[in-house]
Amino acid sequence: MHIYLCGATNPVMGLETADSLYDIVIIGSGPAGYTAGIYAARANLKTVIIAGVTPGGQLMLTGVVENFPGFPDGVQGPDLMENMRRQAESAGVEIVYDDAVDVDFTAYPRRIITSDRTFLAKTVIIATGASPKWLGLESERRLLGRGVSSCATCDGPLFKGARCAVVVGGGDSAMEYALFLSKLVEKVVVVHRRDKLRASKIMQDRVFSEPKIEFVWNSVVVDVLGSERVEGVKVRNRLTGEEWIIPCSAVFVAIGHAPNTEFLRGKLELDEEGYIKVNSSLETSVRGVFAAGDVHDKRYRQAITAAGFGCMAAMEAIRFIEEGYPERLEQEYRAGHPEVVSGPTDPSENF
Ligand code: NAP
Repeated sequence: MHIYLCGATNPVMGLETADSLYDIVIIGSGPAGYTAGIYAARANLKTVIIAGVTPGGQLMLTGVVENFPGFPDGVQGPDLMENMRRQAESAGVEIVYDDAVDVDFTAYPRRIITSDRTFLAKTVIIATGASPKWLGLESERRLLGRGVSSCATCDGPLFKGARCAVVVGGGDSAMEYALFLSKLVEKVVVVHRRDKLRASKIMQDRVFSEPKIEFVWNSVVVDVLGSERVEGVKVRNRLTGEEWIIPCSAVFVAIGHAPNTEFLRGKLELDEEGYIKVNSSLETSVRGVFAAGDVHDKRYRQAITAAGFGCMAAMEAIRFIEEGYPERLEQEYRAGHPEVVSGPTDPSENF
């Protein structure tokens, strides 16, 4: 089979056509992905965002965002993402609501595969973000959606008026969840594995001044109880080994996130936790493939930093194209693959 490169058309395969060749393919639709899209399209580059079947990233699971500049009264996470999506679309970005399931970064142009299409890319920006981590208990999995949740702002209202909800974790997310839930339920119990919170000072001040929020320190949840719905959690003190039960209707797990890089294993360099390794230009171990946002950044992990990384990655991709790297990489790839031919501009010349 002949493989057609940039500008090629192949009317039979329906895959590797001129239509499927993009200057920039962005995988992921959080703040990093949409910002990259806005910058790429405004540079007049043919850009697609493979947004995923559940687009918008983690902010879709957030309530009010108070630290994104430009919104003095705060903004709802889903509203912020909808605005970014509209801005990307009006800048000229094509948005595809499907997941990238595989990539071929050994080929040039690079290939990104979804359930029913192959996208060819001169450059790629990976902005797939990160997903919530779980405790890893069988009971947690069994009762997911029946009282176990990773998103208090989404599922908390279902437990309005409940006697008690448990939050696991000591970071900003856990505190945000506890504060949100304290408006809905009679009592919130935060179970944290240490005796100090990781959360920011301002969040600590808020939770400590909310009388409905109690803390269980140095402890972990070892089981979620209930057959059809959550009825309580079994907790173990890590210092004394003592175990006891906290009756509750819901458990919100807020113990951090893992990068969404499963489909990239073996395709580019990841660190030991699965985050994408990048250089100072946000380029990965593969030429012309960049990463932006929580998928590579485990330090800042903010919507605003993700957006900033999206901007940087797009500017690097634009420079990569302007400096003629795609043509060089294409020549190199062609030299190593004699079966590759240039596609004729007139499809009828193919056969
Ligand atoms: P995080 O800061 O990584 O905190 C995770 C928490 O879960 C830590 O307290 C950690 O304990 C605990 N934990 C981790 N694995 C655990 C396990 N297996 N069992 C029990 N506990 C476990 O994650 P995050 O709270 O989701 O925040 C992520 C980033 O987003 C942070 O930079 C945060 O500032 C930001 N954020 C900001 C806001 C806001 O500004 N409004 C809201 C949400 C998130 P240790 O402390 O012992 O490690």
